[in-house]
Amino acid sequence: MRVANFSAEVSPFAKTGGLGDVVSSLPKALAATGHDVDVWVPFFLEAAEWFRRRGTWPEQEVEPFDVSILGSSYRVGVLRATLPGSSVPVHFVAHDPLFHRPGGLYAKNDQGVDDGIWRFSLFVRAAIEALRRKGDRPEVIHAHDWHPGLAPMLGAWSSWRDPWFDEVASVLTIHNVGYQGIYGPDRVAALGLPPETWSGGLLEHSGALNMLKGAIVAADMVTTVSPTYAWEIRTPEGGAGLDGVLRLKAARLTGILNGIDGQEWNPSVDPHLASRYSAEDLRGKLDCRGELCRLAGFEPGDPAMIVGSVGRLVPQKGYDLLLEAAPELLRRGVRLVLLGSGEPALEGSMRMLEAHYPGRFKGFIGYDDALSHKIQAGSDALVMPSRYEPCGLTQMYALAYGTVPIVRRTGGLADSVIGLHGENLEWATGFHFDDPSPHAVAAEVLHAQSVFFRRDAWSRLVRNGMKADFSWGRSANDYELVYRRAREVRGLPW
Ligand code: ADP
Repeated sequence: MRVANFSAEVSPFAKTGGLGDVVSSLPKALAATGHDVDVWVPFFLEAAEWFRRRGTWPEQEVEPFDVSILGSSYRVGVLRATLPGSSVPVHFVAHDPLFHRPGGLYAKNDQGVDDGIWRFSLFVRAAIEALRRKGDRPEVIHAHDWHPGLAPMLGAWSSWRDPWFDEVASVLTIHNVGYQGIYGPDRVAALGLPPETWSGGLLEHSGALNMLKGAIVAADMVTTVSPTYAWEIRTPEGGAGLDGVLRLKAARLTGILNGIDGQEWNPSVDPHLASRYSAEDLRGKLDCRGELCRLAGFEPGDPAMIVGSVGRLVPQKGYDLLLEAAPELLRRGVRLVLLGSGEPALEGSMRMLEAHYPGRFKGFIGYDDALSHKIQAGSDALVMPSRYEPCGLTQMYALAYGTVPIVRRTGGLADSVIGLHGENLEWATGFHFDDPSPHAVAAEVLHAQSVFFRRDAWSRLVRNGMKADFSWGRSANDYELVYRRAREVRGLPW
């Protein structure tokens, strides 16, 4: 099937989290099963720098052309490269005044205004225009999160004007319902949609323009990134205000667990590690542990349980709970190594703990891909105290790296980690807790610590986890079924 993925992020060119990883590995997995898949993203400064660092540059794909929004004309170019390690094309939509911006992919403009709706509206219109110019009409446009949400909307609500969409089905994947693209009603015009999409309440939510809501309503099929999260987002607790819309869409909403990229995250070939290892021969993991002790300023060969974590320092991830639990854990002999950046208050707590507990707590502040691999390999356990977690990738990386996950039982964490409860050592892969409180985090990490000192039990957990299969193959098949269903509900052949 011919599928075009539209996204704000794609790894390794421009990524802030799991979205970028999925938009890279899912297309590769689908291409490996014979589908004709590509990826469309804005040409952000980050992507340009990625090429510059390597002394290369993507090739120009179509002659620059103009896209008009609200009577203004924007000149765009489209550049083409491939996802590393594959022949999957990546098309970069380039318009420097909007996309070449320091401060991160989602930075505001130089007047401090969030102009995301303009940027992503231009991106979607330009990508569709480029497809048209290439004479390439996908059977499915797969939009990821709210940013390219205009694509399913154009398909659903302007087909009477634009027959190009008649044979294009749309799929929306919600990677995180907490990010919705909310703007004032005065921005509706930027989308260039018929006025009744606003007055009829398709785009409107609580008086504001809500891009994710519009995309949910418009898409032929909606997926999210784990079965448990697909259920959670239909509840008032998990839906971030959109649970009602999602309940209405229930018959066309499904949860498919993300996989992991086996080229990027595999301890037997990982170039970032001090030594490589596998489930059959774990000796290299000790070297990685040694290197992590050195980087974290712990004693060489420290016998204590080293618990790592890597993630964005935002309320969703529950690091405040962990940092509150940290003094108790450190006093009880646990070592903690965190890597993340985000909320200044959490960064401050990390600095304070490091100053108070040298040799026991290390907080790396920043974004560092190589270090994230070293933490995954060198830690004994990985903790994820997420308040909610649509899928979560780091616990799956941990499993693949023989690092035992200790996770809150929510979303994809519940679906990917089998918690040890005393009688299931034969198949358990980690530890679960339910309560989003510092006390529950501490109790479960200490439970893990008690098992850590039972060598045989721990190594059983490690091996169970390394045997778990989170390759993309299975999930890619499920996406294929969703694509077919999307065409079916639109009355199109597949
Ligand atoms: P989310 O998408 O909510 O951020 P995921 O667990 O799905 O969470 O994916 C996070 C991805 O981002 C993982 O690949 C993780 O290793 C990476 N990551 C997050 N923070 C950092 C960081 N500070 N340095 C390096 N990698 C990071």
